[in-house]
Amino acid sequence: MRIIDILHRSVRLQGNVANALVNFSTHTVSLVVVVSDQWRNGKPVVGLSFDGIGRFAQPGILAERMIPRLLQADADTLLDASGRLCPRKVLACAMQNEKPGGHGDRAHAAAALELAIWDLNSKLDDEPAAAAIARQHGRTLAPTLPVYAAGGYYYPGEDAGGLADEIRGHQARGFTRFKMKIGGAPPAQDMRRNGQALAVAGSGSSLAVDANGRFNFEQALDYGRHMSDFDLWWYEEPCDPLDFDAQARLAQAYRGPLATGENLFSHQDARNLALYGGLRPGWDIFQMDATLSYGVTGYGRMLAQMEQRGLSRAQAFPHGGQLMALHVAAGLGLGGCEVYPGVFAPLGGFADDMRIEEGQVRIPDEPGFGFERKSALMAEFAPLLNACNAL
Ligand code: MG
Repeated sequence: MRIIDILHRSVRLQGNVANALVNFSTHTVSLVVVVSDQWRNGKPVVGLSFDGIGRFAQPGILAERMIPRLLQADADTLLDASGRLCPRKVLACAMQNEKPGGHGDRAHAAAALELAIWDLNSKLDDEPAAAAIARQHGRTLAPTLPVYAAGGYYYPGEDAGGLADEIRGHQARGFTRFKMKIGGAPPAQDMRRNGQALAVAGSGSSLAVDANGRFNFEQALDYGRHMSDFDLWWYEEPCDPLDFDAQARLAQAYRGPLATGENLFSHQDARNLALYGGLRPGWDIFQMDATLSYGVTGYGRMLAQMEQRGLSRAQAFPHGGQLMALHVAAGLGLGGCEVYPGVFAPLGGFADDMRIEEGQVRIPDEPGFGFERKSALMAEFAPLLNACNAL
């Protein structure tokens, strides 16, 4: 088995939403198609993926560094013992001649390539990617996964009534837990927004808030004091994601669960978070995202770092809000994952016909990640798929 070609294109996220630091109206994502020499139904079997949400497309890294390394490699060096493409070996090949440290944009590009191999292999085995991930990690796949609706962004011209309507809409779709943004408005306005959301969510245990690294330590502490009576599900990224000292000090002062990790992309960074970030076993949440962090291989290494230091995979709720994050979370038996209903189209959210029931989603049967059941996303993949069918 060998890779015939690897195609990619950059697409824009739709919509115009913002958190406390970032406006997503100019954000892009790299779609990747790995074309194999295996054929089914008159077409080459392909692996589809993209490089996560929130960190931009990576066309330069893919085109100039990683794809040439994979296409120029001796094909046999990328295979596992069964003759299939090995995600770990594909990742190692893509990372040839890259210096250690500085795990940023290339972690996303490498993740897209590694994850495409999971999609490809799962299609060849006619099974969902979650089943393949579970089997290769010695786990039994549960039929459902807890999910929550992430949103509560600062929309242009929004008012508090719009936020309450948004959460009611999530409830109508079957969600029982929600996340909203804080830190993008003055504190008094944010507390009013929190109050509006809590009134609809029912209790603090159904609501998480996300500051996206906006605060310094004093601001984070002040917000924590204002919110301490809410008994929130969690308080996410109060401070800069690499300020482990602030994270640890806040964990001493804020009794509720804290969440962080979506902006850490390597197992070395995860190790430092576990060592110095003050995460409390069985209490705080970590949110690293395989689609931004060297794929399933990289995520598995991060998870090992957390578990070696007493933290549980039940505390893991990856950032991501899309089909790949769902399959990774289910396959590895994590606590759950987020969903972005109606945000970050066409990448965010699950397949067109997937339903949420009482805060749980059933793991889909479609082979691979099941992008083929997400029509708006497949329309974006179409130019690449047309090109690969013509190879
Ligand atoms: Mg977040």
